[in-house]
Amino acid sequence: MNLILLGPPGAGKGTQAHAICLRFKIPQISTGDMLRSAVAAGSILGQTVKAIMDAGELVSDAVILELVMERLGKPDCDSGFLFDGFPRTIPQAEALTSNGIVLDHVVEIDVSDEEVVRRISGRRVHEASGRVYHVVFNPPQVEGKDDETGDPLVHRADDTEKTVRERLKVYHDQTRPLVDYYFDSAVRYSKIRGMGPVEDVTKDVLEALTE
Ligand code: ADP
Ligand code: ADP
Repeated sequence: MNLILLGPPGAGKGTQAHAICLRFKIPQISTGDMLRSAVAAGSILGQTVKAIMDAGELVSDAVILELVMERLGKPDCDSGFLFDGFPRTIPQAEALTSNGIVLDHVVEIDVSDEEVVRRISGRRVHEASGRVYHVVFNPPQVEGKDDETGDPLVHRADDTEKTVRERLKVYHDQTRPLVDYYFDSAVRYSKIRGMGPVEDVTKDVLEALTE
C-alpha cells in the first residue's frame, strides 16, 4: 500500500502516520524528520536547509526529490510506504508520476488554521524517534520526557507562533493546490475531519483505508 498523508503543518499527520504504519506494516517517510536528522548531524545538506526550515519556507524540490528517491530504494519500501509531509508542491507530485511511483490512496487531514496554531505552539517531539506529544492535548507520562526512552523532549525551533503563521501561508500557497490535484486524479482520495481527539481521527483514517 503506497499512501500520502496530506494536510497543513500540525494537522496530526505524524501522529496518525504512527498508527497507520503499525497497522499496515509499512515505513513512514517523513521528509521533515529526514531533514531534521541532517541538521542534527551537521551534514552539508543540514547546513544548507537549516535557515530555510527555521524561517518556515520550503526546501527546494530538487533536494527533496533526491532524498525521497534514495529512501524509496531501500528494501523496507518494497511492501509499501507512507509519505508524511511529502509531496508539498505540484512539481514534487509530478516527479512521483514521472519516476513511475504508483499511489494507492491519498488521505487528507482537514483542520482549521486556528487549531494548527494551538497544536503547534504546544508540540513537543522526541528527536531520535519522531514521536510527537502536546503539552495539553497529548502529554507525555512525565513532563518533558519521552514515554519510551525518558529522553528530554524538544520544542522545535520552527514551532513558534510567528513561524507557524508563515508555514500556514506557505501551505495555502504551495501545498493546498495538491488537494485539487489529487482529488481530480485517479488515485483514491479520502478527506478526514482532523478536529476531534486523536483516537477518533485514527479510527476514521483506518476505516477509510480499509473500506
Ligand atoms: P503534523 O505532522 O501534521 O505536523 P503532528 O502529528 O506533529 O502534526 O501534530 C501536531 C501537534 O498536535 C502535536 O503536538 C500533536 O500531539 C497534536 N495533535 C495531533 N493530533 C491531535 C488531535 N487530534 N487533537 C489534538 N492534538 C493533536
Ligand atoms: P510540519 O508537518 O510541522 O509542517 P515537517 O516536519 O513536515 O513539518 O517539515 C518541517 C520543514 O521541513 C518545513 O517547514 C520545510 O522547511 C521542510 N520540508 C519538509 N518536507 C518538505 C518538502 N516535501 N518540501 C519542501 N520542504 C520540506
